[in-house]
Amino acid sequence: MARTRRNRSGAGGPPRPAGAAAISSPLTAQEALTLYRPDLAELLTALSAPRFRYQQIYEHLMRRPGASLSACTVLPMEIRRTLASAANKETTVIRRADDGRAVTKLVLSLSDGLQVETVVMRYTDRVTVCVSTQVGCALGCTFCATGGMGFHRNLTVAEIIDQVRLAGALVTAEGRRVSNVVFMGMGEPLLNRRALFGAIRLLRDPRGLDLRSRGISVSTVGIPDGIVELAHREPQVNLALSLHATSNELRNRLIPANRKHPLQTILAATDTHFALTRRKLMVEYVLLRGVNDSVSHARALARLLRGRVAAVNLITWNEARGNFSPSQSNAVARFQDELRSLQVDVSIRISLGHSINAACGQLAAEQSPASAPPIDLWHDHGGRTF
Ligand code: SF4
Repeated sequence: MARTRRNRSGAGGPPRPAGAAAISSPLTAQEALTLYRPDLAELLTALSAPRFRYQQIYEHLMRRPGASLSACTVLPMEIRRTLASAANKETTVIRRADDGRAVTKLVLSLSDGLQVETVVMRYTDRVTVCVSTQVGCALGCTFCATGGMGFHRNLTVAEIIDQVRLAGALVTAEGRRVSNVVFMGMGEPLLNRRALFGAIRLLRDPRGLDLRSRGISVSTVGIPDGIVELAHREPQVNLALSLHATSNELRNRLIPANRKHPLQTILAATDTHFALTRRKLMVEYVLLRGVNDSVSHARALARLLRGRVAAVNLITWNEARGNFSPSQSNAVARFQDELRSLQVDVSIRISLGHSINAACGQLAAEQSPASAPPIDLWHDHGGRTF
């Protein structure tokens, strides 16, 4: 795997981001615990605990989803007592909503009282967890409930992994396991790359959650340098582009971030991603009545994708915010038919969870502490502007 990555980013390709090679090397248990919960690793180090204790704690937390540290009975009492001081860092489920069929939304409380949402989707052949990467979002897409919250903060690696662990606890009790993770929840994942790449590394770790790279998808509205970095660091992970419009004029209205990164720049980045990974681009297209759902819009989409290896997912809009309406079913069918007639690989994504506000674009923590007003910043904690 490492050799393949080196070859793919060889002469002629774009420069590899600093640290990318190190990211792909296998993790020791101590490194894995440090990546997941540096506070726990520091406590162990202060106790001069032997290496196998890092392994025991890491495996306990990853292999027994939902288990607390106090239940890790293989540890001596002294270590358990010391680790108990870190219990307030744990992410907890404060509310759960079921749509009565296949979808459960979990509202999670973080250590500072902020909340995020995670969605569990049960299919016959897989269980997919849709995770959040930020509390709120700075990008303010006009059709998205999260965009209306403003940006509060980035999530940590632990807060992303805890969403999968807690979802895992839920489905383990039903005799199933999490097989897929999609970064399509609250926030723009490529504006929180440090935590995103750390979390993907832990998701893939065979000693831990042991997910296949191809079972992981990152969805973005289009952060070009992040798309290229994803190709370098995680070439097997799926890339989904939330496109929603084929002209800059319309896209600027739907996704204000498009003014900073216009379509041509974003598509150039996805072309680089394909050149490096040979992975099909997933294109997400939410259909908004009278806005982007005409036959001519479908033709423009086919033109834009001509020569690119891509598959389009049409998504019916779920009421979230903004002065929009979902496309009517005959318009959706016409749009799909037109794309098919133009040889575009297209499917309609069955939207799950709208009855519990858990569908695409509907995620927004229902309560945010008054002490934490949104931060009006259009850049991530690492200072990268987009
Ligand atoms: S669609 Fe994604 S990027 Fe846009 S506001 Fe919502 S969460 Fe943020």
